Amino acid sequence: MTPQGTSLIGQQAVTGGQAVIRAIDPSTGEALAPDYPGLDHNAVVQACELAETAFASYRESSLEDRATFLETVASEIEALGDALVERAMAETGLPQARIQGERGRTCGQLRLFASVVRAGEWLDVRHDPALPEREPMPRVDLRQRHVPLGPVAVFGASNFPLAFSVAGGDTASALAAGCPVIVKAHSAHPGTSELVGRAVQSAVAKCHLPEGVFSLLFGSGREIGQALVADPRIQAVGFTGSRGGGTALMKTAQSRPQPIPVYAEMSSINPVFLLPEALKARADQIAEGFVGSLTMGAGQFCTNPGLVIGVKGPELDAFAEAAGKAVTGSAAQTMLTPGIHAAYADAVGALAAHAKVREVARGQAGEGPHQCQAALFAASAGDFLADAALHAEAFGAASLIVECDDLAQMRSVAEALEGQLTATLQMDDGDTPTAKSLLPILERKAGRILANGWPTGVEVCHAMVHGGPYPATSDSRTTSVGSAAIHRFLRPVCYQALPAGLLPEALQDGNPLGVSRLVDGKREI
Ligand code: NAP
Repeated sequence: MTPQGTSLIGQQAVTGGQAVIRAIDPSTGEALAPDYPGLDHNAVVQACELAETAFASYRESSLEDRATFLETVASEIEALGDALVERAMAETGLPQARIQGERGRTCGQLRLFASVVRAGEWLDVRHDPALPEREPMPRVDLRQRHVPLGPVAVFGASNFPLAFSVAGGDTASALAAGCPVIVKAHSAHPGTSELVGRAVQSAVAKCHLPEGVFSLLFGSGREIGQALVADPRIQAVGFTGSRGGGTALMKTAQSRPQPIPVYAEMSSINPVFLLPEALKARADQIAEGFVGSLTMGAGQFCTNPGLVIGVKGPELDAFAEAAGKAVTGSAAQTMLTPGIHAAYADAVGALAAHAKVREVARGQAGEGPHQCQAALFAASAGDFLADAALHAEAFGAASLIVECDDLAQMRSVAEALEGQLTATLQMDDGDTPTAKSLLPILERKAGRILANGWPTGVEVCHAMVHGGPYPATSDSRTTSVGSAAIHRFLRPVCYQALPAGLLPEALQDGNPLGVSRLVDGKREI
């Protein structure tokens, strides 16, 4: 299959008439065919109408039908074969192994959600049977289940062209919840988006689902993206990208006559705390692991370790020297888009020019266009605490070492941080009391706390939290990775004293779906 340059509205391929989106191969700077003419507001309305119509039946599709659909999407993506891998490589500059790994993760994620749908735990069935004899007041029969919110708008991310894009985590979790999805494609990888979109479209047809379960729109975020979020039929939004983009969509969602939730994953600098005993024992080893995580994928991960915090002294100096050497030897890598490269160059330039910041090392300069040259800087904790500009994300392989006078100042730095996706402790046994004193602070700041690992690499599983307080995300109560992501697109409904004939299958006596239930406060199954 080759990309055709069309949007997908239900089962139709639609060519827009607005400004053209054109993929750029970031390794050469050359445009890639075909052109993607952007859609207009009418196309958004059409996709939303179809999604609304589809919702009426898709929301009540059986657990088995919905799970089979998700598995079919995965199989259809795999059936795209090398064409998908080659297109994604050309549009992103990412190496083959990374794209192949990401395809595996994307399909694994869809299959994980299929198993979650079948298990039915997400329905969260509760039943408090009637107590007609209760004194002084009898209790009526009360039952609860979760239902899907309605059509969901998904904004694909630039940095994961498969796993956080058209059929990525947001789409998989919304479809699993029973919500139709309309994707606003990321303009950086339109061909990849169309190929994956056609795979989802084909799965919709093969599973005999209503066509409006899935649409894929190309066009400007400020125009069709905004129109999509403002459309009254859209009931929730999934987004991964910049703080500016996510915040703009939050504002639109909140100013609708009916405000809706926006699950935006935006910016995080992922602090790493180097605790004294660990630093004393293995500064070189920690430095090696740190630079590996920092430079992986040209640092274009939301979990990239952009901040390292330690107590001043020979051990921190040894760490900085070893990390600096590794950064100096690191090869330049092509960044995802000219825009991301320009933003990275600006951020590194601002740090280099900052009067209170010292440059520790720069990586190798690349030869082609849009090359990420890794950068490591250092500043005192006092200066870091005094200047909010030093807390900003530099998206790419750049990091800042913050030198504290003592452990009390390290805790002050932790307290001063904005919300984060992750916080990491490099620690040995002797550091346990220090780690214990940091933990309550880090729990308030981050969605995931790690010991002796590196934040890059996010396992797709049941216990994962890829979330955190603003600006890491717009809603710290949820995760965008892992099976718990389904809860973003559900809400509870209580059925009070409904006759048996009106109860949904999940709530009927005899538990015909065989799902776990909380009956009179006790877990069954
Ligand atoms: P972006 O500029 O926020 O774009 C993401 C998506 O949102 C695109 O589809 C874009 O549409 C749309 N959009 C942007 N601003 C909008 C607005 N005001 N209203 C409606 N839609 C809007 O992010 P990006 O292009 O992926 O990367 C730029 C920067 O985002 C990076 O340099 C980095 O700082 C950050 N980023 C963070 C993460 C993370 O995981 N935390 C991941 C990727 C990027 P268009 O197609 O029209 O641009």
